[in-house]
Amino acid sequence: MGKRSPAKGDNSEKKCFICGGASFSPVYKGIKSEGGLYDIKFCANCGLGRTEPFLNDAELQKIYSSSYREDDSTRFASPLEKAIALLRVQRCRRVEGLAKKGRILDVGCGRADFLLLMKERGWETSGLELDKRIEGRGKKTGMDLRFGTLDTVKFPDSHFDAVTFWHVFEHIRRPEAALAECRRVLKPGGVLVIAVPNIDSVQAKMSGKNWFHLDPPFHLYHYSAKNLTMLLDKSGFEAATVRHYSFEYNPYGFLQSIFNMPGFKRNLFYDFLRSRNIKGLSSKISIALMLLAMPVALPLSMLLSLTEAALRLGGTIEVYARKRA
Ligand SMILES: [Zn+2]
Repeated sequence: MGKRSPAKGDNSEKKCFICGGASFSPVYKGIKSEGGLYDIKFCANCGLGRTEPFLNDAELQKIYSSSYREDDSTRFASPLEKAIALLRVQRCRRVEGLAKKGRILDVGCGRADFLLLMKERGWETSGLELDKRIEGRGKKTGMDLRFGTLDTVKFPDSHFDAVTFWHVFEHIRRPEAALAECRRVLKPGGVLVIAVPNIDSVQAKMSGKNWFHLDPPFHLYHYSAKNLTMLLDKSGFEAATVRHYSFEYNPYGFLQSIFNMPGFKRNLFYDFLRSRNIKGLSSKISIALMLLAMPVALPLSMLLSLTEAALRLGGTIEVYARKRA
């Protein structure tokens, strides 16, 4: 990737955008990922993490298109995809537990699988994604799916009953502006859902710079329940509930972090699950060792993720908030 420098005007601010704290210091140094080296700096006051260098959109887009998204539409092998689809129904139910059925916007909607379920349940659905193919998918499914971000696509005031960010908010460059836009497009009392990795979790603390969900350079900021709630509060939202367990994300976070620790290639097992196409003898031997360790590592990861959730220090969190009057 060559030498990188932080984008001008993006991350040049010296102060923490959540608490105003002026002291950021690197805690994790030199994380090797996507051909670059990254540090994570933390606000001494509220614990917000920031990835550095903080890549600009063009640089990130280049990495996204080369690795993060597979060209085909499947992220994982099929049985795993089916299991994930079942979990998505639970997601729908959780949103419906708080929000009045009506219009929903999913920011960073991916292939819009979640929205499709919501549509089947009677919601009017809109989605935003930074992938041109999304508009074709919109035509095919009869949903309002648009290429763009909250910065570029303007919806009417007080339009939505719910806005969701499923593992997208940590990728957002200007979180405060995004929340101001959410506040504008949500109806009074509308529901905002933000699911992010939790930097205060047991798995984050235990695995340090090897933590799977750090995911530099894609994750620009690293939140906790505490600082995200502070941010929501100052942005005009009241956090109603915070969930600390996700079957889809948390056990795997432990499992992959354990496999990242003994010096295996970062996220090798994840790449294996995603593509099954692992090159090189040493990587193949590593995968074989991981599969051998699985009868112990998998139940251990399940148990640990339940334990951290019980302590309300879950590997990922879902924050459900309401727009204040
Ligand atoms: Zn701070």
